[in-house]
Amino acid sequence: MKTVCPEIECDLLVIGTGMAGMAAALFAAQRGIDTVQVGMTGELNFASGLLDLLGMHPVAKAQIWSDPWEGIAQLIHDQPDHPYARIGVDTIRAAMETFIGFLNTAALPYRCHAHQNAQVITPVGTLKTTYARPESMAWIDRALANRPPCLLVDFPGLRGFSAHQIKAVLHERWPDLRTARLPFPGLTGELQTERMARRLETPVARAQLADAIRPQLGDARGVGLPAVLGIARTQLVFTELQQALDVPVFEIPTMLPAVTGLRLRECFERQLPQMGVRARYQQKILPTPSLAGDCFILKAGGELPEVQVRARAIVLASGRFFGQGLHADRHAIRETIFNLPVHQPADRSQWHRKELFHDEGHPIHQAGLCIDTQFRPVDAQGRCVYPNLFAAGSILAHQDWIRQKCGSGLAIASAYAAVQACQAVLGQTPQAATA
Ligand SMILES: Cc1cc2nc3c(=O)[nH]c(=O)nc-3n(C[C@H](O)[C@H](O)[C@H](O)COP(=O)(O)OP(=O)(O)OC[C@H]3O[C@@H](n4cnc5c(N)ncnc54)[C@H](O)[C@@H]3O)c2cc1C
Repeated sequence: MKTVCPEIECDLLVIGTGMAGMAAALFAAQRGIDTVQVGMTGELNFASGLLDLLGMHPVAKAQIWSDPWEGIAQLIHDQPDHPYARIGVDTIRAAMETFIGFLNTAALPYRCHAHQNAQVITPVGTLKTTYARPESMAWIDRALANRPPCLLVDFPGLRGFSAHQIKAVLHERWPDLRTARLPFPGLTGELQTERMARRLETPVARAQLADAIRPQLGDARGVGLPAVLGIARTQLVFTELQQALDVPVFEIPTMLPAVTGLRLRECFERQLPQMGVRARYQQKILPTPSLAGDCFILKAGGELPEVQVRARAIVLASGRFFGQGLHADRHAIRETIFNLPVHQPADRSQWHRKELFHDEGHPIHQAGLCIDTQFRPVDAQGRCVYPNLFAAGSILAHQDWIRQKCGSGLAIASAYAAVQACQAVLGQTPQAATA
């Protein structure tokens, strides 16, 4: 006997649970849009958790911007096809403010430095430019400016994080650094950041860590630790550790996958359902959806029982090759769910330049979906493919987020613009008008 697949109806289906999908679901929920979100958890775990807005433009000249807003204005001028040019500075600002505001109220506070780019220390001791960082990393601004004596702590068994190496790389810029390698409370052998972070959420482990650090403090006016200060209770762990040590503490990002990405993921997974989003975090939308009137009918399969989703509009935030929104075979790059037209080089031989580290990057990184002013994917002639299908995030064409250092900014701002455009379409239909 054929089993009938249950159906879920919604106004908006967000496909994807990366940064763009989470941001789209958030913005939709804030606007009161009836939203279902489907995607596999995972990609955010691999992200650094830092919110880059624009670090570099033009990439060929490796020009770094301390004022990302000035950089964006220049980028919009130079690359009118870039998604940022479609969104516009005011909407990008509104998107970032709304997103960061949400994190602040969700007990995962992020800090910007006077709306300018700031720096964080990487796990190898170099500096990385970013826009917004967890509050637990923010003291680094003052530390880099004033270079007070500080203690850097690492733990035996934590791979890819050496306080000694960080000190060696930063030595000229910040000579007054000391290091200490301390056993991690309650864990031995090879250490994983997630286990360490969860352990520090217990008061006993926090107290033990503070007790181990205190005798090493000497004249240190700050303590740098790998980013393992909790996942769901980072703010508590961070605050209590500072109080126990009586000096500022700052986190230094670890190698990926890092708990800083996991914190964001868990924060969204906790908050969005409370905001009314019907989330299916262990499911995948199967290819080849159909249409019934103005609605999309799609199947979601995966780890949960299969369901059919009937949606009046969709925000597609399924990512690139890593997220599986795009797939490249021997002949072409294709979009994996709707088989949408993908902007790409004429043939495979042009995907990559001969020089691996070419100044301008590789054309394949600019492949993706072209969109109209309403964030709807278009065909080669610029015609919108579906009036109620919108796209956001790294799946968009004409951007190279890794090299331009605009990954999260692009994901958040395009999600905001797509949801805004989608709301206008939903609002125009008779159903919504009478609702
Ligand atoms: C290793 C790494 C480091 C990063 N570091 C930074 C950084 O330092 N600063 C910064 O700003 N940004 C960084 N980012 C980028 C940022 O976090 C985002 O990943 C990026 O901007 C793209 O987000 P996205 O949501 O568009 O795509 P993805 O993150 O790729 O998410 C795509 C989502 O779509 C889902 N999906 C795909 N197909 C389907 C389907 N058929 N059905 C349902 N769901 C589907 C996937 O499961 C996934 O949830 C980093 C990312 C990675 C991977």
